[in-house]
Amino acid sequence: MITALAGGTGAAKLLRGLVALIAPADLTVIGNTGDDIELWGLHVSPDLDTVTYTLAGLIDEAKGWGVRDDTFHCLQGMAAFGEQTWFNLGDRDLATHLFRTESLRRGATLSAVTDAIRRSLGVRSRLLPMSDQPVRTKIRSTTGWLTFQEFFVKEKGQVEILEVAYEGADAALPAPGVLDAISHARAVLICPSNPVTSIGPILAVPGVVGALKETRAVVLALSPIVAGAAVSGPAGALMAARGLPVSPAGVARAYSEWLDVMVIDRRDQGLTPELLQFGVSPVVADTLMTDRQREVALARAVLEALG
Ligand code: GDP
Repeated sequence: MITALAGGTGAAKLLRGLVALIAPADLTVIGNTGDDIELWGLHVSPDLDTVTYTLAGLIDEAKGWGVRDDTFHCLQGMAAFGEQTWFNLGDRDLATHLFRTESLRRGATLSAVTDAIRRSLGVRSRLLPMSDQPVRTKIRSTTGWLTFQEFFVKEKGQVEILEVAYEGADAALPAPGVLDAISHARAVLICPSNPVTSIGPILAVPGVVGALKETRAVVLALSPIVAGAAVSGPAGALMAARGLPVSPAGVARAYSEWLDVMVIDRRDQGLTPELLQFGVSPVVADTLMTDRQREVALARAVLEALG
């Protein structure tokens, strides 16, 4: 069993490569819910949905989120009512959020509804939200606190980052199965995901770091930072705001308490001594997943690094 800690787009691509090589049922994914947002009364879980849609073959490849060939009639209708439309919810995508919200309203846990959604869409890997309790990533800027989606989608990440907090994390419990999946894995994979706002919230759930320190499994991370910048998204700015160098070495520093191996890009080969200083063994590979073949090749390199 391989257990993966995952954010959205980068994670989903690597996991799609991985399930081309291993039995999908041998993969358990622990997903970030720090990005979850309530919109129009609906509970939206962007990272869980990106992983689910990607593994189900439904993802909109061009956008990297949402359902392929979706339409936005409801969004246009809501605009006419003066509702918030900065967060794009497609018509087919809405079915997922309606089903999730209605199930939660009837008393289901987020774990149960996440499992029902992935099964209904034909995903054979297990997907666990990091917690059934709300944990919300908040970013403090000069104008005050923003939710992650306000920061990333509404403000397009173009605001000064003064502080990052994981609201609710102290009181949250790991979702059922999360700690077990880390403790009993053959290997734990930290996906190429934003260290501050995708992996950070998972690590903030009490018990997760302890499980990573104690597991006998090899813990391997794939660097989301290549040649001094994030491949996509705001990871660089968020790492810099946390005082971390924007490099695989910065990621290794953030994870150094429990990380064994890091797969870095060929262009970052020179950072090998820095990684070793953090007690992390580097493995060099081509880490840009620009097509399916490269996703599978990288997943193969990860499996080889895991022995
Ligand atoms: P985001 O930062 O909000 O976009 O959240 P994610 O956790 O989904 O971040 C995606 C992360 O994956 C970013 O930090 C990217 O740099 C990284 N990423 C995306 N595509 C690739 C890829 O092909 N290779 C590598 N190494 N990293 C990637």
